[in-house]
Amino acid sequence: MQPLAGKVALVTGGSRGIGAAIARKLAEDGADVALTYVNSEAQAQRVAAAVQAHGRRGLALRADSADPDAVAAAVERTVAELGRLDILVNNAGIFAYGPYEDVGRGDFERMIAINVQAPFVAAQAASRHLREGGRIITIGSCLGERVGAPGMTLYALSKFAVVGLSKGLAQDLGPRGITANVVQPGPIDTDMNPADGEGAEHQRRGLPLGRYGEPEDVAAMVAHLAGPGGRYVTGAVLSVDGGFSA
Ligand code: NDP
Repeated sequence: MQPLAGKVALVTGGSRGIGAAIARKLAEDGADVALTYVNSEAQAQRVAAAVQAHGRRGLALRADSADPDAVAAAVERTVAELGRLDILVNNAGIFAYGPYEDVGRGDFERMIAINVQAPFVAAQAASRHLREGGRIITIGSCLGERVGAPGMTLYALSKFAVVGLSKGLAQDLGPRGITANVVQPGPIDTDMNPADGEGAEHQRRGLPLGRYGEPEDVAAMVAHLAGPGGRYVTGAVLSVDGGFSA
């Protein structure tokens, strides 16, 4: 079944980890997919090739989420090259950990630029092209629901912010038949949070399911929201976190 046949998606940060799994899953479900990256050109091209292997159009775009003009330009290029836009997935993000007293002004600005400003700018640019049935899905974090430990103030505040962004967008865009939701992953085995990394055991112990998730677990939820099953879901915050927030 190809529930997304005829649709075009843009996934930010689609070269690795969760974003790459989302790009692949949306293509498997029938969408043409553009994806952004900042450094990993070869990996981004591999994901675009995987999209094409599903018989869909795949497009890798270099766009640094720290640069709002680059983010807006990626939206415009997607529409110019793939003809339309139906699904925006704000996935690109960075993590930071450490004493909050040591967070510098530059650290703060970079975190907000990538994790908060970019999703806002992308949503604003996308909303000019999205039509009835359009979807905006933002990848937050379980730390945007419950912080649970010290050292993550800066990251957590950025992930709480995208909940406000999505709820606001749900109000602003609902009358046009466009939905906006947040998916909040728990520990997912990626370069950002490897299942064999420092602190992984501690994270596992805090989870009712007792194990890390895979990028595909998050992609499945995104695909559900992007597809027909998501048509009456908006302003929602959906956990894919192994029970972290329980
Ligand atoms: P990874 O670090 O494994 O991958 C990050 C992706 O985002 C890469 O494709 C990277 O591109 C891209 N990216 C990073 N910075 C930028 C930038 N400035 N401009 C454009 N693209 C950028 O992260 P994950 O896959 O683990 O995380 C994806 C999302 O999920 C993030 O928003 C993260 O906060 C969130 N999340 C992850 C969790 C986890 O446990 N893994 C838990 C909760 C939330 P490139 O390859 O070019 O560097």
